Amino acid sequence: MKYDILIVGGGAAGMAAAITSAERGKKVVLAERESDLGGILNQCIHYGFGLTYFHEDITGTEYAARFRKVILDKNIEIMTDADVISIDEDRSAVISGKNGIIKVFFDFCIMASGCRERSIGSVFTGGTRPAGIYTAGEAQKMINLAHYDLGERFVILGSGNVGQIVARRLKILGKDVAAIIERNESLGGLNKNRHDCIEAYGIPVILRSTVDMIYGEGRVSAVRINNLDTGKTEILKCDALITAIGLIPDRDVAENLKKNGTYPDWLYFCGNCDNIHDMVDAVTMQAEKLASDICRLMEER
Ligand SMILES: Cc1cc2nc3c(=O)[nH]c(=O)nc-3n(C[C@H](O)[C@H](O)[C@H](O)COP(=O)(O)OP(=O)(O)OC[C@H]3O[C@@H](n4cnc5c(N)ncnc54)[C@H](O)[C@@H]3O)c2cc1C
Repeated sequence: MKYDILIVGGGAAGMAAAITSAERGKKVVLAERESDLGGILNQCIHYGFGLTYFHEDITGTEYAARFRKVILDKNIEIMTDADVISIDEDRSAVISGKNGIIKVFFDFCIMASGCRERSIGSVFTGGTRPAGIYTAGEAQKMINLAHYDLGERFVILGSGNVGQIVARRLKILGKDVAAIIERNESLGGLNKNRHDCIEAYGIPVILRSTVDMIYGEGRVSAVRINNLDTGKTEILKCDALITAIGLIPDRDVAENLKKNGTYPDWLYFCGNCDNIHDMVDAVTMQAEKLASDICRLMEER
């Protein structure tokens, strides 16, 4: 099957790019590996989304639902449970999904595949590797979507928006957050989150520090906090460690196309796959602009 535009990923960026392209009359196929569109938004049950785009304060799930409603009315081929497993130089892609493995051809490809989280393996931490260590995104997904109970007393490594929002969620669930550990001199993330999550819930913050040792047989029982200036250490008891130590654009499926540091002129990136965005509104607007630019390019040819 041949399309004008293939969109990889159906989060905020992919949905916005698909809607704009379809509104310009392009034949669009969107492949999303999960069974529903929305991406990371589907696990964001907190408010703080849409302030710029909709001039309203809505939840992440509501933000996704608004775009799902629009996209389903457009003439777009939407494949869910569909993983794009390769993209090739002849402008084809292999998609593994419900109907087996298929190959599609396209003129342009928009990568909207989001980002990955850095895991505990990316920081130097000694000790054991017991159960009870999660990335913040994993924890958020397990708690908000699958309703798992991940522990009673948590230490969170990393104080960006994601770490702060997960910390607040745990407090709302009645859990003990022993501390957020941050290597910098001040909290990361937006001021709004500092106020709404950290100050409002009285979550302890330990700055200029890191977790350098994990203890526990079978299950996390404590972590060692190391002050980066003084070298002084303290043990914090906990039964779960959550890492919120950074996000990396996920372009793996397109890396084979990079030659001498550049990608082909028919391949574009948007959303967190392009660069990490704090606010979804910026993701949507960037994706809409990119799709509109690509449509203009096609029309001028
Ligand atoms: C914890 C947290 C809190 C946040 N809080 C706020 C907030 O309060 N306000 C706000 O405005 N923003 C917030 N954000 C930011 C915002 O939600 C994100 O920046 C935005 O939703 C990212 O959209 P995206 O489409 O780029 O990526 P994603 O939502 O990650 O979507 C990428 C999609 O691509 C799919 N995919 C990846 N690879 C493939 C492949 N090979 N084949 C098929 N599909 C693939 C994935 O399954 C995923 O659905 C928050 C983010 C997080 C993580």
